[in-house]
Amino acid sequence: MRNISKSKFLSGVQCEKKLFFDTHRSELKPPISPEQQASFDVGHKVGFLAQAYFPGGMDATPDVDRNYIIPIANTRRWINEGVQTIYEATFSANGVFAALDILHHHNGERWAIEVKSSTGVKDYHITDASLQYHAMSQAGFAPDRFFLMHINNSYVKNGEIDPKEFFVLEELTERVLSNQPWVEKKVSELRDMLEGEEPKVEIGPHCGAPFSCDYKGHCWGHIPDNSVFNLYNSRGREWNYYNNGIVDLRDIPDLDALGHRQRLQVEGQIHGQRFIDEERIEEFSQNFQFPLYFFDFETIFTGLPVLDGTRPYQQVPFQYSLHILSEDGTMEHREFLASAVDFNSSTALDPRQQLIQQLRNDIGPTGSIVAYNASFEKSVLNGLGEAFPADAEFLFGLNQRFVDLLVPFQSGWYYLPEMGASASIKSVLPAIAPEFSYDDLVIGNGGDASAIFHSMITSDFDEDEAETRRHLLAYCERDTLGMVIIWKEVFWDRV
Ligand code: SF4
Repeated sequence: MRNISKSKFLSGVQCEKKLFFDTHRSELKPPISPEQQASFDVGHKVGFLAQAYFPGGMDATPDVDRNYIIPIANTRRWINEGVQTIYEATFSANGVFAALDILHHHNGERWAIEVKSSTGVKDYHITDASLQYHAMSQAGFAPDRFFLMHINNSYVKNGEIDPKEFFVLEELTERVLSNQPWVEKKVSELRDMLEGEEPKVEIGPHCGAPFSCDYKGHCWGHIPDNSVFNLYNSRGREWNYYNNGIVDLRDIPDLDALGHRQRLQVEGQIHGQRFIDEERIEEFSQNFQFPLYFFDFETIFTGLPVLDGTRPYQQVPFQYSLHILSEDGTMEHREFLASAVDFNSSTALDPRQQLIQQLRNDIGPTGSIVAYNASFEKSVLNGLGEAFPADAEFLFGLNQRFVDLLVPFQSGWYYLPEMGASASIKSVLPAIAPEFSYDDLVIGNGGDASAIFHSMITSDFDEDEAETRRHLLAYCERDTLGMVIIWKEVFWDRV
């Protein structure tokens, strides 16, 4: 009989085929990306910090071989001996297995506490907790109360993180109890399924919720690149098409029912047709005032605040790139990349203030600041202005000067069939300048840049720091250079 663990149960609830692959064909899983690894690392650190909320517990974490026989035996023994708190308490009975982050005894009650890096309770947390309750009760140790411990999103770091302030305990007992008959039935169904052939499950919305499935590369192999799933802003309409046998974008019958941008996309695929709304582009081009500052931030966005004065999941900038284009066509490049050690130094100037100081030198008093999806850069500057009131006037002043290069593409004023569904710079740039790519770069996207810099400021980094800094600088520079190329192609002759 196969054990159903918490993660397997979650997989099986999302899709039986996913659980089957987890169990029998895990070679189909793609390797973990730096961004995913960074998220796991933060999860572990959050879990570790949560233990300090209930200090002095016994730790049942398994050894490196992940042999759970000893943790299960220790958990049972320690509960029977009256140990108040057990970390990674592990339970197994009747083919169900679960490790609980914290088991705590409080005024005669047994509390089960599951720790999450989120800032609230999500539906799948209830599923997760329900399976844990089931495992605990099957093992003879049903908890009196079940809590989810998640991050308090209004917490502001000031020195060492205080776990009592950083976490919120939210009780799930009633919801978990009411799920028990369903859990029992589902466990039995999943276990039976695992003994049989690979289940026949069609692709569907479940492939993306609650998690993007690791096996999409396998199950979605028959979906072409230009499918209904790439329809711009499709809002669920893609499944209606798919379920009616329409897979290729070009086979969509009711073009009149589509929005402007969607129609451009489909007609672009059918006729290879480009679309330029000269009037709108001309009008938009009037927004640009020389010199043009093509600007891009890279930020850290993590549950554990990295600097005093910041909150969980606040965007903290650590890098920017700036290309400055003058009216006569000359261009220069400026850049900032924080020193990783300054994030942990009690004597260095806050890296954000260093960034602001350099920004004052790099951005002159006049001229447009051009960003791609400028609301992001503006929100980061707003955050800096709120954190450093002495610089607020300067920073808020910069925010008045932004022109968003995304607008003409998102609005469908300028469309090339090669852009496909997306108006992101990663789609627009290669369509406009096919010879310009990110392929030669070691770091090729913002998520990885963020994850790598985050690992540099924690103890997780064991690569060559100087070389990694060069890769980070090269990536951010490419983003703003890409903006210059797009701007020149679309607007240079119009300003
Ligand atoms: S890609 Fe979809 S159908 Fe395939 S295993 Fe994942 S969830 Fe199931």
